[in-house]
Amino acid sequence: MSRAVLIQSVIGLGPAWEARPGWFEQHPAALSRQAEAPADVDLAPVEPPAPPRPDIVSQPEPTTLVAAQPSAKLPPLSAEPPPLSAEPPPIASPAPEVLPLLEWDALERAVRDCRDCRLCQTRTQTVFGRGNRQARWLLIGEAPGEQEDRQGQPFVGRAGQLLDNMLTATGLDRDRDVYIANVLKCRPPGNRNPGGDEIAACQSYLIQQIRHIQPTLILALGRFAAQTLLQTEKGIGQLRGKLHSYQDIPLIVSYHPAYLLRNQPDKLKAWQDLVFAKKTFGRLSAD
Ligand code: SF4
Repeated sequence: MSRAVLIQSVIGLGPAWEARPGWFEQHPAALSRQAEAPADVDLAPVEPPAPPRPDIVSQPEPTTLVAAQPSAKLPPLSAEPPPLSAEPPPIASPAPEVLPLLEWDALERAVRDCRDCRLCQTRTQTVFGRGNRQARWLLIGEAPGEQEDRQGQPFVGRAGQLLDNMLTATGLDRDRDVYIANVLKCRPPGNRNPGGDEIAACQSYLIQQIRHIQPTLILALGRFAAQTLLQTEKGIGQLRGKLHSYQDIPLIVSYHPAYLLRNQPDKLKAWQDLVFAKKTFGRLSAD
């Protein structure tokens, strides 16, 4: 068994599967998202695109995957993604909204007491984030799910375990090396898609978290986080494999772990994204 196959097996990559053309675009969830998306989402304005970077790359599609398995011992990162090709300039990031920067503890309290959108009526508790506030990696997901709402922590349950395994496989400790947050701090009922007004109401908290942490690299997990941060309607397939930027912070897009639990063939793509992110982080750290 090759090293790459071993690593893929350890992080739980599954058997080969290819989506039919148009499968994702015509998926009920995608159609529902389009139908529900409000036309007046008030997100931060888009800043002019950053100049082209010579190292922008794309990644080819994977062809094989394996079933999820627990990973007591994970090998060091060594798997290489397939050769990467040149890509257009990075996607523009939105300009920051000018907000008074609260101290971290005050920011946590503000989130905990927040009633700025309807989600405060149905949440069990807010989910602020977790990890090392001095971490160089910032992982941003969508919104709390049922388990997160109960426990007050992001990325718990099976999705969290999968994320932990993948982070470990890349040599990252979830408590030491990364900070993990969501775009929304409260759970949308029934795990429905967040509304544009909810995003607008909550965005200042995430912006302030980013300003505090000042990460070297942002990993946007899932289409919702990616589209929100990059102010785009492009899908994951168009966004992943490229180096974007959010407020001059390099940003890479990958799949949300909860999505990967339902779509195991895409685990290999997620692994390729992590390899790409790890390499990018190494180069950024050396600059
Ligand atoms: S989702 Fe955000 S804006 Fe809405 S109540 Fe929760 S913390 Fe406040």
